Amino acid sequence: MEYYSLNNRSIRAGFREAATRGLAPDKGLYFPGHIPVTDPQLMEQIETYSKSELGFRILLPYVGDAIPEEVLYRIVEETVDFPFPLVQVRPQIASLELYHGATLAFKDVGARFMSRCLGYFSRDNKKKITVLVATSGDTGGAVASGFLGVEGVEVVILYPAGKVSAVQELQLTTCGQNITALKVAGNFDDCQSMVKAAFMDATLQTRLQLTSANSINVARWLPQQLYYFYAWQQWQDKAHPPVIAVPSGNYGNLSAGLLAYKSGLPVENFIAASNENDIVPEFLSTGAYIPRPVVTTLSNAMDVGDPSNFVRMMELFSQDAGALGAMVAGHKVSDAETMDTLKKVYGECQYLLDPHGAVAYRALEEYLLAHPGRHGYILETAHPVKFPDTVQQATGNPVPEPPAVRQLYSKLQHFIDMPASPDALKEWLLSR
Ligand SMILES: *Cc1c(COP(=O)(O)O)cnc(C)c1O
Repeated sequence: MEYYSLNNRSIRAGFREAATRGLAPDKGLYFPGHIPVTDPQLMEQIETYSKSELGFRILLPYVGDAIPEEVLYRIVEETVDFPFPLVQVRPQIASLELYHGATLAFKDVGARFMSRCLGYFSRDNKKKITVLVATSGDTGGAVASGFLGVEGVEVVILYPAGKVSAVQELQLTTCGQNITALKVAGNFDDCQSMVKAAFMDATLQTRLQLTSANSINVARWLPQQLYYFYAWQQWQDKAHPPVIAVPSGNYGNLSAGLLAYKSGLPVENFIAASNENDIVPEFLSTGAYIPRPVVTTLSNAMDVGDPSNFVRMMELFSQDAGALGAMVAGHKVSDAETMDTLKKVYGECQYLLDPHGAVAYRALEEYLLAHPGRHGYILETAHPVKFPDTVQQATGNPVPEPPAVRQLYSKLQHFIDMPASPDALKEWLLSR
């Protein structure tokens, strides 16, 4: 598969180059040169496939000969090594639980796949790959756990001191081995500017092989389409495909779902479920894409003011906003509605949502009211225990801690204190 830059179609790269670079040289996002059509026979018999087989068959055309088939199969097997249950919450609404991986967030799938691809690509490199990533919480944990122990790859995670939850900090700081956590005396924007400055720095560029690990990277983005195929395996009423509500921030997840749809997955409609940062729902109703400063909300992993994957959504519909709007309905959910939904779904259905899943639930519920006779599911992107205060406040009950979280408390934390300064980061990177 060849990928092209969304800034300039003539800038092309294979999967290996796209995954190791992250962004194209002209700073454009990489996009697949063509969208493979899923084998109709596979779709007919989808229930008979194991998760690994299905994942391998879907991802093979995107990877092509960049990775030998038996290696790719093993990578997929390790990536999807946990359940993706579609749980019925009400007769018309199910929840696709994507939080049964190592760090209890859906980002585990992308992080695990990307880390293993980079590990394979760096196997005969003398120079280690250094993955540099700034996190406001969830990304860092998924990346740390995904890359832990991967040969030839060093991971450096910057997080803002005092601004991530206790569980999130434990997930970042207890890995050890090839994972280093830098506790930055600043906020998330400081962390992000330090990372950006490092990528622009000529000395660092020549001395280290730097790459990033967010959803702009094709190796993190592409495997996310598997969720939607796993849901279809479990979907009972194949004559009536689902409406799918995706809680969205950077729109990596939703655009991966649209990619699956374009390659042949049956879907009735998508919902771009957003919090107050509703740049995309605004675009879908007005046709104007206007980035805005971020507003802090209860669903903070979706607090994004200029979603990077929006350009991929448009490209999937050949830059035709009308065609995109026919397949994707936008919906904004306030913090008050999020709390109300958490409380109501727990009280009436004994089902515990997290704030991000609650945004999607509310959006789907309102959509179904306006479109009677349809049914669908939400993507539940994080375990409620990652947001214990909000969830407890809404439901009145403490969130039970899964064993994976309890184990963290007994582990030793390691981090390096770092001033919020690009120069301090550069000096530290060069001194290692
Ligand atoms: C990252 C994240 C999202 C947003 O996903 P995008 O692909 O950026 O749209 C939603 N929910 C949770 C819990 C997340 O961590």
